[in-house]
Amino acid sequence: MAETQIEWTDATWNPVAGCSIVSAGCTNCYAMEMARRLQAMNVKKYKGLTRRSGKRTIWNGIVREDHSALQIPLSWKKPKKIFVNSMSDLFHEEVSNAFIEAVWGIMRATPHHHYQILTKRPERMSELVRDRIGEVLPNVWLGTSVENSAVTGRVDELRTVPAAIRFVSFEPLIGPVGNVDLSEIDWAIVGGESGRSARPIREEWIDEIYDQCSRFDTAFFFKQWGTWGKDNKRRSKKANGRVYRGRVWDEMPASLQGSMVEAE
Ligand code: SF4
Repeated sequence: MAETQIEWTDATWNPVAGCSIVSAGCTNCYAMEMARRLQAMNVKKYKGLTRRSGKRTIWNGIVREDHSALQIPLSWKKPKKIFVNSMSDLFHEEVSNAFIEAVWGIMRATPHHHYQILTKRPERMSELVRDRIGEVLPNVWLGTSVENSAVTGRVDELRTVPAAIRFVSFEPLIGPVGNVDLSEIDWAIVGGESGRSARPIREEWIDEIYDQCSRFDTAFFFKQWGTWGKDNKRRSKKANGRVYRGRVWDEMPASLQGSMVEAE
């Protein structure tokens, strides 16, 4: 799967399928519903990964390593920003160390791409990258997701990971994160939740993150309001748009531009 509508990347690469819920940000995980749909379309990779819970579809905890998907980035000759595992979490406890190392091998072999890895399990990422992999690849960005103040400790964990670029995704932002410490964090993405069950985002929560980005010189990317506008009125994602403080914020980490141009 390569095409994506995610505003901050060019392509997705899913060597892992399936996951399990870890925190409040996972409640409306789009990948669960997408996995159900792909199963209904007879896509083998996504068979048997979810179960029904009332009217909802949720992960059942089965996680599948897709060895056949490992080679995909080798066939992409043009440099891309690649979001790794939009349908799972590479550092899920059911993904073997050996498989994660195989993913690292592909990223090492394709320095013309930039890989964006986002996890809600930064403890495992930190342990594995620091103590086992022990290598900083210049084309690999490591990030964590933070949805509210209950999980800001993930940012502290991220800081312990050696990485060319560290980033935090505050999406879906469903609560305030206060004066979150963004020292040594290169990039922050902020976004509201989408979909029928979306929870509201508040402009003052975004303001706090924006101020911390200015303080720590962290690039700021405002992805979307989701399906709740800044006036706390529910509308379509398209109608809500991406404007914050009168403009669109598409900042990227400072070191990206030069390296992508060089690769081309
Ligand atoms: S960690 Fe990510 S993929 Fe896994 S359930 Fe949570 S939101 Fe979904």
